[in-house]
Amino acid sequence: MWAFCWHSLFREYGWQFFRRIVWPHPVKTAKAVRASGALDYTGDRTAVGAADSEQTFGGARSLVGVGFCLKPLDPPCPSGRFNHDCRFLETLPRSEADEIPAACRSCAIREIGTLALRAGAAVYVMTSAQDILLDVFAPALNESRFTSGLFTLCRYSLRPFAVGLLAGGVRGWMFPFEKGDCRDYPTWLRADRGTKEERTELKPSNRTAIREFLRAAAQKPAAASGFEKRGHVLFPLPAESEAK
Ligand code: SF4
Repeated sequence: MWAFCWHSLFREYGWQFFRRIVWPHPVKTAKAVRASGALDYTGDRTAVGAADSEQTFGGARSLVGVGFCLKPLDPPCPSGRFNHDCRFLETLPRSEADEIPAACRSCAIREIGTLALRAGAAVYVMTSAQDILLDVFAPALNESRFTSGLFTLCRYSLRPFAVGLLAGGVRGWMFPFEKGDCRDYPTWLRADRGTKEERTELKPSNRTAIREFLRAAAQKPAAASGFEKRGHVLFPLPAESEAK
């Protein structure tokens, strides 16, 4: 954590974090740093804030964040890799006749994003730390845009990420990758700039846990039929019956 902070001091992300989070909200930030130190990062998932059960997840201020590095390499993601795009999710709802592209069939983003939609949650394909700051932490802190979130990310990022969530008042569930993830600062920095040659994977039991978590949070009747992209985030569109 402190090594991450030290390195970040020399990068724009560190200054932006200071300007947007630390400087305007020093007490919240101090509390977030302290609370993040008390969390357990060794298990299959880390609960942040008052995160308790999936029963309290879902709906307008919920967010599901997935690392871009989950995108497949062979065949490659039709949306490209280091970006916030997912052509599959962006073209929902799809008809039965629409064939699922080969790359999307095994893609965790497709499955997690589709289940997030049923839970009425927004979906965010996470890329750089700076974008996460501007797209998630700052809007959560300044506008309460997100109050709960489920995230998949590398174990190396868990604690700094928890600080951002806690400062922003976001209850969260973080699931670390099992394979292909960044385990030190140089590797993390390359990925943060878009160079990531491995495809990350979630532990099968965690993928099942996420599936069950989002299924339990599914809204009935379905609140959304597809997504609309605002900025870098996919927000659920009201279902047709709701929109009328
Ligand atoms: S489902 Fe996966 S492979 Fe398909 S467009 Fe989305 S991110 Fe790319």
